[in-house]
Amino acid sequence: MIELKQVTKRYGAVEAVHDLSFSAPRGQIVGLLGQNGAGKTTTLNMLTGYFPPTSGQVLVDGMDMLQHPRHCKRLIGYLPEKPPLYDEMTVAAYLTFVCRLKEVARRSIPAHTEEIMHLCGLWEVRGRLVGHLSKGYRQRVGVAQALCGNPPVLVLDEPTVGLDPRQVVEIRELMRELGKSHTVIFSSHLLSEVQQLCQRVVMLHRGRLIREADMAELTGEGDVLRLRASIAMKERQLLPALKGLPCVRRVKALPTPDADISEVLLECSRDGGERGDPRTQLFRLLCALDAPLHMLAVERDNLEDVFLRATSEDDAVHIPVR
Ligand code: ATP
Repeated sequence: MIELKQVTKRYGAVEAVHDLSFSAPRGQIVGLLGQNGAGKTTTLNMLTGYFPPTSGQVLVDGMDMLQHPRHCKRLIGYLPEKPPLYDEMTVAAYLTFVCRLKEVARRSIPAHTEEIMHLCGLWEVRGRLVGHLSKGYRQRVGVAQALCGNPPVLVLDEPTVGLDPRQVVEIRELMRELGKSHTVIFSSHLLSEVQQLCQRVVMLHRGRLIREADMAELTGEGDVLRLRASIAMKERQLLPALKGLPCVRRVKALPTPDADISEVLLECSRDGGERGDPRTQLFRLLCALDAPLHMLAVERDNLEDVFLRATSEDDAVHIPVR
């Protein structure tokens, strides 16, 4: 639905985004994850046509954002970092105003705004001034304005930042609900948030893409199975045998206090190939070696592990400054 192709953005001497390519498939919730200053807001601003990239291309539904800005922008609802709210308007009047800006047919505006207010939990406060609302409700109004005109894509910049824990939960619930009918792209520096909500993750670090993958793949539920095992055999005998298993891609020995017991992390191909499940292969191997298995567990990464690993691998990379 949305595609960035080799996009770079420079602010004078600062290269905020470098050669970034990724896509957000239709109907998915995609999380743009990165620390402060990673380039998330810059990326979203280019993706929504708020400003153009220095080089590269943004495609929305196959159309180039620079060549067909009106068409592309109609397909996107944007909640920027600072929502463009008018404090002196009531919620209902503000949403009506946004609908008119977005050229929604006049006669359908009342029903359209009513539907949005119900969806965003704003119906009870429709007559209140935006300036009198709590931060959580203001954020809902921000999401509501992005929904005006019924765009199939929603882009939300750090939608939960600055909210209290209850408001955070409510906004996440709303995003989950919206994700059923929209392509949602949102930025966050909160790993847990991205892990809870997204099907796909794009990780940025210092303006560069460091990982783009389905959440299941990233956290070890894809085609890789990670096993942790404790086996009563010395490492130097055990490791070569483990490496010889057809399903094993990588073996890492972990420190143990007892030299006769080895603790290992195995990265296996989940289907295990011709010889079946990696756990079965391991069991057969250990029987043949007469090496008792003390413990076997499936390891699941959380996104934090993946992110820390990816960013520490990338720490050697520096953004060139002209
Ligand atoms: P945060 O989570 O703190 O909002 P971010 O990931 O959204 O950060 P950006 O706001 O896109 O990051 O900023 C990326 C880099 O570009 C930062 O180094 C920032 O200082 C720089 N930058 C952003 N906007 C400008 C600007 N208008 N002029 C110069 N540098 C800028």
